[in-house]
Amino acid sequence: MREVLQVRFGEIFLKGLNRPTFLKMLVSRVRDAVKETGGRVWLSDSRVYVSDMTDMDEAIRRVTKVFGVHSVCRAIEMEKGDFTALCDQAVELMRGHKGSFKVSARRSDKRYFMDSPAINMEMGGYILERLPDLRVDVKNPDVVLSVEIRDMAYLYTHPIMAVGGMPVGSNGKATLLLSGGIDSPVAGWMIAKRGVTVNAVHFNSPPYTSERARQKVLDLAKILSESLCGIRVHVVPFTDIQMQIHEKCHEDYTTVIMRRYMMRIANEIARREHSQALITGESIGQVASQTMHALSCTDAVADMPVFRPLIGFDKSEIIEIAQKIGTYETSNLPYEDCCTVFTPRHPATKPKMDIILEGESKLDTEALIAAAIEGSEVIQL
Ligand code: ATP
Ligand code: MG
Repeated sequence: MREVLQVRFGEIFLKGLNRPTFLKMLVSRVRDAVKETGGRVWLSDSRVYVSDMTDMDEAIRRVTKVFGVHSVCRAIEMEKGDFTALCDQAVELMRGHKGSFKVSARRSDKRYFMDSPAINMEMGGYILERLPDLRVDVKNPDVVLSVEIRDMAYLYTHPIMAVGGMPVGSNGKATLLLSGGIDSPVAGWMIAKRGVTVNAVHFNSPPYTSERARQKVLDLAKILSESLCGIRVHVVPFTDIQMQIHEKCHEDYTTVIMRRYMMRIANEIARREHSQALITGESIGQVASQTMHALSCTDAVADMPVFRPLIGFDKSEIIEIAQKIGTYETSNLPYEDCCTVFTPRHPATKPKMDIILEGESKLDTEALIAAAIEGSEVIQL
């Protein structure tokens, strides 16, 4: 008999013929997650198990963050042949609990000598006899004692919910425009949760943006990297482009034009990274550059889909997720972003394409983009 961590997955079940590949990925992600706690990970009978870790709580903390994991439970694993021994163990698990309970048995070993209703009844009765303070309530119990009869028997109460989603690597690759703000780390996390491998592009404008602002973005990327299974960040020098926009374009249009250059560069880096989409943290109406009009102007320069998972979210809803995923505190540090350098007094909320194009015609777009990409630094986290 020993305690193991039983790991359940959710949507992988939907994946039909691809299921074995997805499962293999998930096992590998769980294995990476528990590496430092020394756990052994294996797949058996449609469940992933972790055993022999040095620190169960730390293993739970890590595994519940793995995309694709629906829930985990601390389970007692034991031989299934001796039903009385199972019942004795069930009594130990229920000892200390008050109120109502029910036994919920599942039997994937159909040759087992008792069926599920019989296990529920026998084990329930056995527990009641020994713990008379408990009562049975099959409709709305305070505690469910689960018994799974597989190659071994597993007993547990209180499953712990995990993050859900799909294993990273199972759904293509996308490039995140990562700022130091609250929104973009959340946006990247949400897309990665659907199984997408995410890399990032960050624009900085030294000396207008500081080394600390750059480090803040790398710190955010580092926090994300645990869930995202690593992240590569391209830090792109943006000062020259911003200066030229500032000098040559209509003041009200500098923001939207700057955003179009960000999009163009990110698009080119994404193409080289073999990404199939871009990701931003924009939401409708949050600032002038995120009106419907402005968003369509930035979209127009991308030749791949732009995912904006926060498009319909309020700031308070985004903050809630940022707190949950651990990026909020870092995002909240007060360092400047290149977007906040040279902000116009009255940014155009309904920018006109002819004015944008007229402004951009004064810039050597190709050369500026090439130089920015050439000068960028790639950091693997
Ligand atoms: P917040 O709104 O919380 O300040 P943000 O990251 O959303 O942070 P915005 O000014 O709203 O900042 O920018 C909109 C989006 O544009 C961001 O979500 C991000 O995807 C992208 N972006 C902004 N600035 C940068 C930057 N310096 N580098 C890369 N992407 C950026
Ligand atoms: Mg924002």
